[in-house]
Amino acid sequence: MSLKGKTAIITGGSQGIGRGIAQVFAAKGANLVIAARDAATGEAFVAELRDSGAQAIFAQTDVARKADAATLAQTTLERFGQIDVLVCNAGAFWEQPLETMSEDDWDKIHNVNLKGTFLCIQAVLPAMKARKSGRVILTSSITGPLTGMSGFAHYGATKAGQNGLMRSAALELAPWGITINSVMPGNILTEGLAGLGEEYLAKMSAAIPLGKLGAPADIGGAMAFFAGDEAAWITGQTLVVDGGQTLPEG
Ligand code: NAP
Repeated sequence: MSLKGKTAIITGGSQGIGRGIAQVFAAKGANLVIAARDAATGEAFVAELRDSGAQAIFAQTDVARKADAATLAQTTLERFGQIDVLVCNAGAFWEQPLETMSEDDWDKIHNVNLKGTFLCIQAVLPAMKARKSGRVILTSSITGPLTGMSGFAHYGATKAGQNGLMRSAALELAPWGITINSVMPGNILTEGLAGLGEEYLAKMSAAIPLGKLGAPADIGGAMAFFAGDEAAWITGQTLVVDGGQTLPEG
């Protein structure tokens, strides 16, 4: 599954799952554009990627802003000349019971997770359509499309929404040779997940048949499959990567 010579944008690529995806893609020879808001973290990671031999740049981006998404696509084209892969991975999550959930909670999480996905896809389409080729891969979740979690109704709605967006987009983009698929991670040990607390991590890790939380590179492997030539005829599909967490009946 070589990605040699392919240019991939990874939103939320500066830490957590996005960082793992970037490391796997770099090892497979991809050129990388790491997009996130915090420049210090992003630039430091890009320096690491370059030290390991990869071609990589950081593009400061808030995916919830249309102008930022457009600049991200433009910056990628200026540096690498093409956009082969877009990974829509930037996301936010926090616990908030429905009764105390503010409109701001609801809007913020939708703006990053769902609107951000739409805006970034829209921004890369002219370049992908012009070459009649492209891969879009979304980081959805098991939470929402498959499972529920108390306190995460706003988050689950966005993650199920990404898969809904993905299926219609797959039909719309197929005539241009552009595929779009979705990876649905279970509980992956990232900075963001650690923020939910030790008790949460212990409870989740005990619920996983394979015996431990996932690592960002586990999601990177699934993403590399969808980005590679081997997946050229797969579109509109989802892949659960959860260590078996969603399997037990009781
Ligand atoms: P994380 O550790 O909190 O990292 C989030 C990344 O997204 C950071 O790079 C962050 O950088 C970036 N980001 C956040 N808001 C952004 C915005 N408005 N514009 C651009 N970048 C933004 O989270 P994670 O655990 O790696 O999660 C990554 C994705 O996986 C999310 O979509 C999440 O829903 C999904 N997911 C995670 C798990 C899990 O167990 N960890 C499970 C299922 C799905 P800046 O703050 O610098 O912008």
